[in-house]
Amino acid sequence: MELESLYREVIMAHHQNPFGRLPLNHVDCSAHGYNSSCGDEYTVNIELKGDVVEGIQIEGNGCAISGAAGSMLGQVAKGMTLQQLKELISKYRNMLTSGEADETLPGDLPALAGVNKFPVRIKCASLPMTTTLDAINQLQK
Ligand code: ZN
Repeated sequence: MELESLYREVIMAHHQNPFGRLPLNHVDCSAHGYNSSCGDEYTVNIELKGDVVEGIQIEGNGCAISGAAGSMLGQVAKGMTLQQLKELISKYRNMLTSGEADETLPGDLPALAGVNKFPVRIKCASLPMTTTLDAINQLQK
């Protein structure tokens, strides 16, 4: 792992002290995600008030990259509408593909752009977000 050291510090801080771990009052939608190439495994629970994210809980275990991605998402998702959250995830995934830090993404999410240089890690960095999309899509079926 040779991410720029500044980014590595941000990633390790999130991994060691993650946001989005607190239990919710109730769960409106939920999904489970597993990354077989690394062993990352998370359950994303979302609590809604109307179509606004009232809370998000990302439970599970994985590597520093997936843990940091989940924490960064947990830090910024609260208060977003489901549509805003879907757009954020779409922009974030474009960033991982391009490798260019998207500074319009909230919180520390731009710090994960460097993961682009490690193709096997892109799955790690995507897992909490794709699992969140799965949860939202279950709701909108
Ligand atoms: Zn991983």
